[in-house]
Amino acid sequence: MPVDAESLHARTADADWIRQLPKAEVHLHLEGCVPLASVGLDDAARAGVAFDPDTGAPRFHDLAEFLGFLDRSCALVTDGAHVEHIAYEIARRAAANGVGHADVIFNPIHWPAWQADLDRFVERLDCGFEAGEADHGVTTALCLSLTRTQRPADSAALVDWLLAARPGRVVALSVDGNEAAAGRTGQRFAPLFARARRAGLHTCAHAGESSGPEGVRDAVELLHVERVDHGIRALEDPALVAELAANAVPLDICPTSNVRLGVVASLAAHPVEQLRAAGVRVSLNTDDPLLFGTSLADEYRRCAQTFGWDRSVLGAIARVSIESSFAAQERKRELLSSLADYLGPAA
Ligand SMILES: [Zn+2]
Repeated sequence: MPVDAESLHARTADADWIRQLPKAEVHLHLEGCVPLASVGLDDAARAGVAFDPDTGAPRFHDLAEFLGFLDRSCALVTDGAHVEHIAYEIARRAAANGVGHADVIFNPIHWPAWQADLDRFVERLDCGFEAGEADHGVTTALCLSLTRTQRPADSAALVDWLLAARPGRVVALSVDGNEAAAGRTGQRFAPLFARARRAGLHTCAHAGESSGPEGVRDAVELLHVERVDHGIRALEDPALVAELAANAVPLDICPTSNVRLGVVASLAAHPVEQLRAAGVRVSLNTDDPLLFGTSLADEYRRCAQTFGWDRSVLGAIARVSIESSFAAQERKRELLSSLADYLGPAA
């Protein structure tokens, strides 16, 4: 083929290239990884949610409806072997998407059967992840998440538990939930995040999804998080975008989730491209893949098609995903080295 066509071909990313691209996933909820068949699709259907006839994935109108669904589906997980299976399947799906490391967020508020025995819950997750790593070579870490709308005493009790138990698998403190309902809560959560940081834990926070740019600013300036989950509404404040770029604060972005929950109108209208073009470090993630009918390779592929991203852009996003992950330093070095080998000298 002519030289120009040949070099274009070398830069264009096809589905196989994208799937095998070494990457990490850093914004993935345990609650969005519960196979609906395993909790009984009938139960979920009775909970008043409509299902897409093509993909079998549920349809949600907004974040509040989605969070209510999580409460109902996760409440059906009462058996330890089921918890292990959910963890194992996360590692299996990760490997199938070229993911070498996953940071998995879990929020006890959605798991009523386990709230009184979080030690055993994390032990069973640990068993599933261990088996997944042995079979599929994927490392995983857990982030314990607080809820924006929960009572302060309940948030504090979770941090007390985490700092006393210190399960090796849990490496970070996080906060999620509906910021539109909670209002600005940065001041309230700041002391808990400070405690976690002093104890050597990583930190991240949902912001700029159900909150505007002020939520992102609070996460960075009050919670001092290492990365922001979503953060896309930072785009509404150009000064904030410039600060995020200058301070290299990574945003872990979930395009399909944002479309499915009505945060943005369409993928073409998604702020990820403008944020990236403004120099903000962004990674791509699925949020809740089984509930949104997506996979990480799908996220990369859809964005590449929509925004015309070539291999070098996708490689840079994969690099951010690994660098901003909470994997152990040695593991990060391994994954970055695999990525460099994969991209070759042109990168
Ligand atoms: Zn999320």
